Amino acid sequence: MTNIAVYPGSFDPITLGHIDIIQRISLIYDQTVVLISQSPNKPALFSAEERKALIEESLSGIKNVSVDVYQGLTVDYMRDINAKVIVRGLRAVVDFEYELTMANMNKMLAPDIETLLVFADPKYYFISSRGVKEVAQHSGSLQGLVPDLVAKALIKKMKR
Ligand code: ADP
Repeated sequence: MTNIAVYPGSFDPITLGHIDIIQRISLIYDQTVVLISQSPNKPALFSAEERKALIEESLSGIKNVSVDVYQGLTVDYMRDINAKVIVRGLRAVVDFEYELTMANMNKMLAPDIETLLVFADPKYYFISSRGVKEVAQHSGSLQGLVPDLVAKALIKKMKR
């Protein structure tokens, strides 16, 4: 049986914190799917297709990771591909309540699917997509926050 982990999120855009989680998970599971959750309730700076391309380019070195876009419930996507583990990253205590609520909701919807919380690396625990967008908006340095190709895409977006 192939053990598949699904790492869902907005990834608007992907940061070095996300990449660190993906790299670590890819060493544990046979396959990791980075799932871009597309929600009309959550407007994004980058389109789902743009986010997918940025993630794919940022992860080009990792063979057992793929990227997908989904509009529905994560657990429904997981049933389709027979995945049993949802991975989420935990930065600080503020993430905890949100992640706990979501994990319990998913448990209710799909008791056979587990949520695995992975602690952020201390190097990256302060990085958020929202934070990097703010830095980019004010023309701050994106070094050490996102891959260069994402920094370029952010700068281009902000010029528009
Ligand atoms: P969402 O909008 O679903 O929270 P994000 O793209 O912001 O999506 O984050 C996806 C997941 O990655 C979440 O579990 C979040 O806590 C985690 N995450 C975000 N930034 C980091 C980081 N710097 N280090 C580790 N995990 C992170």
